[in-house]
Amino acid sequence: MHDMIDLSPPSYPDLIFRTLSNFAWPDGAACGVILAWHVDGEAGPMASDRSVVNHVAAISEAAYGLTTAMPRILDLHRDLGVPGTFFVPAHVAERHPAVMEAIVGDGHEIAHHGYMHENVFGLAEADERALFGHATAILQRITGRRPRGWSAPGWGVTEQTLSIMASMGMAYDASLMERDVPHMVDTTAGSIVELPISMVLDDWALFGSSLYGGGVSSLTSAARAEAIWREEFDGLRRFGGLFQTTFHPNLMGRPGRLVMLERLLLGMRACDGVWWGTCEQAADHVRRLDVEGQTNA
Ligand SMILES: [Zn+2]
Repeated sequence: MHDMIDLSPPSYPDLIFRTLSNFAWPDGAACGVILAWHVDGEAGPMASDRSVVNHVAAISEAAYGLTTAMPRILDLHRDLGVPGTFFVPAHVAERHPAVMEAIVGDGHEIAHHGYMHENVFGLAEADERALFGHATAILQRITGRRPRGWSAPGWGVTEQTLSIMASMGMAYDASLMERDVPHMVDTTAGSIVELPISMVLDDWALFGSSLYGGGVSSLTSAARAEAIWREEFDGLRRFGGLFQTTFHPNLMGRPGRLVMLERLLLGMRACDGVWWGTCEQAADHVRRLDVEGQTNA
């Protein structure tokens, strides 16, 4: 006898990805744009190893996003007149309350991104629930509002994660990639809105080089990122999808890239029929459509 390879079909999680037959962007827009920032800060390098707290250079690289880049990023949003969603690990919020105050003061959304940017894949249900509740309470205390949605640190998501979010009343998740149009995810604990992301719009894929975290080994010019993202915007506009960024302030906030981003966004702003909003606004819109669709069914 030799060990047989497993030829049985895997058992997929008990989730239903439900498309809305009545889905449309607000005001008849052709596509949606959400500028989402993942403000990982010091939690990024410390997610898997708390002893990094003593690695002053690694922490300084991570903190650049908060102390140096964030004021410029907020200026850019203000100049362009567009809102943003900032996913912040609760530890980063408690370490940089003044930055959180500035984000909220400018009318942007702060959303859930773990406590120390934990990848929850594989966590026991009780631990994951406790972690989620702990970070929610800290964000609520610091920002004055309970976060409405979550994006997965390291893209670690399980059926359990989505069920916990639904049971805790979160409006949306922004971590999945099967579709490029917002839709519903039905879990055993209720449904939540999914606002899909894409690695194509994740700056880590192009600029993800860090002292501690590894990542790509060579740097890419901002112009190359600009070309890729403009292509994707044009495609999503054609097919009616969601252009949701995953931008990290410590990567995207480097001066050369911010100048490029301003140019890219000005070009996108010049296009008609584009809805610009936050994750929270998109989720409320999708939920409304879902309720209407079920009422009229
Ligand atoms: Zn992150």
